[in-house]
Amino acid sequence: MTTYRGRIITFTDSRKIEDFEGYMQVEHGIIKKLSKEKITGEYEDYRDYLILPGFIDTHVHLPQVAIRGKWSDDLLKWLENYVFPEEKRFLDEDYARKMSRRFFGELVRNGTTSAMVYGPPSRESTEAAYEIADEYGINVFMGQTLMDMNVPDELKTSTKKAVEDVGYMAERRENYVLTLRFAPSCSMELMRETAKIAKLYDLRIQTHISEQKGEIEVVKEIFNKGYANVYDTAGVLTPKTVLAHGIHLSEEELRLISSRGSKIAHCPSSNFFLHSGVMKMKNMRKHGISVGLGSDIAGGPYINMMEVMRDAYYANPLSPMEIFRLLTLGGAEVLGISDVTGTLEPGKYGDFTIVKYEGETTEDILANLTFYGNENRIVGTYSHGRQVWGK
Ligand SMILES: [Zn+2]
Repeated sequence: MTTYRGRIITFTDSRKIEDFEGYMQVEHGIIKKLSKEKITGEYEDYRDYLILPGFIDTHVHLPQVAIRGKWSDDLLKWLENYVFPEEKRFLDEDYARKMSRRFFGELVRNGTTSAMVYGPPSRESTEAAYEIADEYGINVFMGQTLMDMNVPDELKTSTKKAVEDVGYMAERRENYVLTLRFAPSCSMELMRETAKIAKLYDLRIQTHISEQKGEIEVVKEIFNKGYANVYDTAGVLTPKTVLAHGIHLSEEELRLISSRGSKIAHCPSSNFFLHSGVMKMKNMRKHGISVGLGSDIAGGPYINMMEVMRDAYYANPLSPMEIFRLLTLGGAEVLGISDVTGTLEPGKYGDFTIVKYEGETTEDILANLTFYGNENRIVGTYSHGRQVWGK
């Protein structure tokens, strides 16, 4: 049993925000008690720091950790010039292991304790990445990135192989995610057959949707229908599906996604970086679609989620509290883990991040984090009550 003292800011399941100087007690990885009054016994003293729920990144590409900040203003060219050559290197398991260590190391150093991850292009390298993730002990939802057309041959799978791989991994990893790169590089057969396996094992699914206008045209040319309809036809839109971006969706598509209960990973830093456009939060709210924040490394240059919070504000006029909710409870809802993390409340995992702060009121503090937050602010990261990083 360990007690932590600090300024605790968290949303609660009832969607209220709490902010108080106090104590949090964690036992066997689970939060036991929060209190404004002193809890007897020894405690870890973070009295000049914030204790925040661990950050949640709902969309990030592990094999792109080394290619952040590579300039291009066109998504498809950026994939061709930088992403595909780097992802090919991940077919080598040793390289995958080495870079996974760097990737998960950077996540915890930046306060992230839950992430939905696009893994390497092969099953073997994805298994290696999972082994490294286990060492860090954070909440990782990951799948091998599947594609079977319009990409270099080395990155292609076949429907038969993909179905075997997904079934194999689903048997071994309950957090395994069916990961379809995006419709322009996935045939209808690949999407449909793997979606059947996802249904069988009740897996989460992730893919991209409606990021750039040129990409949307490509989807129309290949499938002769709209983006959301392509996924729906393939059986990919489920309540456990997380779609990245969703910038240029039509009213009809928003209605369809909402009716299927699928979620959106909003990646504003990536959207600005690649000049993809701006996702309109009011559209998502109007249709009752859940939204979390994603770094989208390396479309987005920042693995630190506070930098993504800043861009979320420039994308949509949200209050600092609303943005903080997207990062924590919102992200947990999108990943379907709000029963175990995303807030600091008794019964949830001891997933929390210790952060330097400035300001007096809740709003001032969260605004300061939103506009000036970066890696240097983070002094400790805890996952399931275990310190996974600390200065
Ligand atoms: Zn992405």
